[in-house]
Amino acid sequence: MLRQFTSTLFLLSSSLLSFLVYGQTATSNSQANTALDAMQDNGVILLYHHVSTETPASTSISPEQFRVHMQHLADNHTVISLSNMVKALRKGESLPDKAVAITFDDGFANILENADPILKSFEFQYTVFINPDQIGKRKNQLSWEQVKAMSREGVDFANHTLSHHHMLTRQPDESEQQWLARNTMDVMDAEQKIKKELGYSLRFLAYPYGEFNQRLKQHFSELGYIGFGQHSGAIASYSDFSALPRFPAAGIYANLNSLKTKLNSLALKLVADGSQALELPYDNSPPQLAFTQQTDDTRNTQLQCFFNNSVMKPEWEGEQMTITIPDKLKPGRHRINCTSPSKNLRGRYYWFSHPWFVPTQEGTWLD
Ligand SMILES: [Zn+2]
Repeated sequence: MLRQFTSTLFLLSSSLLSFLVYGQTATSNSQANTALDAMQDNGVILLYHHVSTETPASTSISPEQFRVHMQHLADNHTVISLSNMVKALRKGESLPDKAVAITFDDGFANILENADPILKSFEFQYTVFINPDQIGKRKNQLSWEQVKAMSREGVDFANHTLSHHHMLTRQPDESEQQWLARNTMDVMDAEQKIKKELGYSLRFLAYPYGEFNQRLKQHFSELGYIGFGQHSGAIASYSDFSALPRFPAAGIYANLNSLKTKLNSLALKLVADGSQALELPYDNSPPQLAFTQQTDDTRNTQLQCFFNNSVMKPEWEGEQMTITIPDKLKPGRHRINCTSPSKNLRGRYYWFSHPWFVPTQEGTWLD
């Protein structure tokens, strides 16, 4: 896939390079090439909300722990802007090995107060997804003056809808068409407000609560948006750019040891026909996932999937993988994570995640 080996070899650490070039006598060249391709064709996006000790624990990381994360990135990874990562992958250009992009959702003032000084000290670029109708209005939010000043210093701002609604909510008597039109107006309005204040429009949309369905992601993709979710996984040139995964890195996910595996992960190439359910009805039948595995740097027998802390055994038919969830899903957000070790890159795992969203019996969506 990526053939610019000579120009990018300098990016590889010498130990890994010798492992790849000299340590693979039993491995075919094509497999080593696939692993080398994977290193240059992958990036990881981190997702934060609050950087503070005084905000809800589930979406917060302390400034001290945030500094620990950033120091780890400085020592082991190459931090690039989200926009450069997406641009390179879409064009099929090489990324530095272990490239990481840093993102924040919701535009809280503590990003500027607590995270920005740390990020500046490491000279890390980052992106904040904001709700333009809440900027300067809701408590704890950045003001437009602050957003503009940060923008002048190189921080990117992108779309998180006007005021952070559940996009999957249907209003009473609303047709599917009206629902889609209402969401389109909201996102385009938000994009317009960012453009008016900051002079640019990235057309990056982070779905509030990470919730989307096939219709939404297809529609916004057709309008030229790149979508971002909150299901986990690395991204690559073959990812679904209408709903890219990000690794949440705060709350229960802030532990550096478990984050290390995620930061080193690669995008598992599982391809589906686009009909995989994302939004399920309240009265759902247990969902089933069917994918074709297309990475030759993994072994099907080593692919493991986890759902609600239990191991799910995929059924294989050739390269076709099927996973059946045993019970109907309760209201809320769910996701299944699948990982598989790389055959050629020691200690690195391919990662894939699929989310499901279920409303309450009343048709509302849980925060
Ligand atoms: Zn949000």
